Amino acid sequence: MGRTRRSGRATTKEDLRAEAMAWAERIKVRPRRIQVQTMRTKWASCSTRGTVTLSLELLDEPEPFREVVIVHELIHLLVPNHGRVFKAMMKAYLPDWERTSAGRVGGRCGFQDPSLAKRPRDISEPPIGRDRRAARRLT
Ligand SMILES: [Zn+2]
Repeated sequence: MGRTRRSGRATTKEDLRAEAMAWAERIKVRPRRIQVQTMRTKWASCSTRGTVTLSLELLDEPEPFREVVIVHELIHLLVPNHGRVFKAMMKAYLPDWERTSAGRVGGRCGFQDPSLAKRPRDISEPPIGRDRRAARRLT
């Protein structure tokens, strides 16, 4: 319901925000704010105050990948880690999420370590031999 772009491409910031809001409704979370901006090293982040930030560069990504990023951050509003409950919820909404994001999302999550998230350039360089964009992280 409410998702009119099943296989389409989000073309503007507003499209991306609309996608995120549609998912928020489906997951039944209420982010205080959803913002879209240039992010140097991450695909998205989520603050403990409920602000979800999405990278502008997601506009160049296929919808299944955008969904993984969006749903990941929204679930953090309910589950502040990547434990069993988190993974079960990801699977419930996006059964294929692990395959969709394979190799595209780095391991460490700033959400679990707020001290990392505070630094403007918190994330180390991507591993050698990997595309910079492929090494972006979710938090
Ligand atoms: Zn995370």
